[in-house]
Amino acid sequence: MTQYRRIAFIGAGNMTRAIISGMVSSGYPADKIYASNPSQGKLDDLAADFGININNHNHAVTQAAEVIVLSVKPQLMEKVCTDLAQLDLSQKLVITIAAGIEAHRYQDYFGQPIKLVRSMPNTPAQLGLALTGLYSAQQLNDEDTGYCNELMSAIGKITWVEQEQGLNHVIACAGSSVAYFFLFADAMQQSAAKMGCDPEQARSMIQQAMLGAAQMLSHNSDLSAEQLRLNVTSKGGTTHAAIERFQQGELETLVDQAMQDCVARAEEMA
Ligand code: NAP
Repeated sequence: MTQYRRIAFIGAGNMTRAIISGMVSSGYPADKIYASNPSQGKLDDLAADFGININNHNHAVTQAAEVIVLSVKPQLMEKVCTDLAQLDLSQKLVITIAAGIEAHRYQDYFGQPIKLVRSMPNTPAQLGLALTGLYSAQQLNDEDTGYCNELMSAIGKITWVEQEQGLNHVIACAGSSVAYFFLFADAMQQSAAKMGCDPEQARSMIQQAMLGAAQMLSHNSDLSAEQLRLNVTSKGGTTHAAIERFQQGELETLVDQAMQDCVARAEEMA
């Protein structure tokens, strides 16, 4: 990372821990990282594990930092922001990781112009394998853009969207979609168990197959997912039999509807 700004996390839950873990592993100096949280236990754990600065008061960490990461649950965001609005935030870069709250609502909460970036990480952030969508309503300068890129790259890959609505596509493709894959894995495990397969053995096989498929997709970026599938589907063979069943059940239509439902729900929540 080229810029080590003083950064404060408001809320010290799972996502904050994942991001701080990635930052510290990639060399971000712990003495430039601050976190606040109402309950002391999570703060003590973060201080013990990463050596960062902790404080129970959101104002104290906000005043100490140049970059503020809003990392509380969406339903608490208005309360937290209206409280922080008492401070002068004009020189700070504010990054929110909350799902579903549009940029204009932060401007309303703060009641002052703020430099805001919305980011949408997903749960594999815990393993450094996140996909984080980023959006800014304002034109950011190169330093701020670079800072956001490097910060979120500490937990995985990033992608910027030009329209705010694009963040809802990030949710459908990378946020909620993690659960779709779990659903698929679970259905396969249940089926394998019914056939008499040892559950642990089934879990391990399915897990490795998903990992292998994901790696093949990422290593063969010149080949579409459809082509990769065709490459392992011999006419009249075992894979063909299974794929035919999925197609008879109109899996593609179902996936399309599920993705649309996901985006529609994200739009409603905004
Ligand atoms: P979390 O584990 O529940 O963390 C939220 C933290 O906020 C808790 O430690 C909570 O403290 C603290 N908090 C509550 N009131 C506060 C206040 N007034 N001031 C400061 N901190 C306060 O939730 P999370 O999973 O990390 O999610 C954080 C944000 O990330 C959410 O907005 C969520 O939408 C977003 N997000 C999460 C994921 C994910 O995979 N987890 C993915 C994308 C986006 P106490 O527990 O002590 O009350």
